[in-house]
Amino acid sequence: MDCKRHPGVAAAHACRQCGTPLCEGCFDPATGACRDGCKRTGTAGGMIPGRNVWVKTLVSILAIIGAITVLLLALCAGILFTNLG
Ligand SMILES: [Zn+2]
Ligand SMILES: [Zn+2]
Repeated sequence: MDCKRHPGVAAAHACRQCGTPLCEGCFDPATGACRDGCKRTGTAGGMIPGRNVWVKTLVSILAIIGAITVLLLALCAGILFTNLG
């Protein structure tokens, strides 16, 4: 298989993110991916769908915690003012 960017040059590696065949010059051993930035246009299916879901879940949990905190603060303030009054 030839390098995707250099037809005629044998691919020595494959991008671990998009699966694109890469020659020595196009392969970045530090990341194991395309040296010029991986565009993830391959058919390897290396997508990570879990991350966005986790971020959304975290944001939801933080929002709920924030709402509960505000409610508790309001309750405390109400109790304090009731006792004072
Ligand atoms: Zn190349
Ligand atoms: Zn890639």
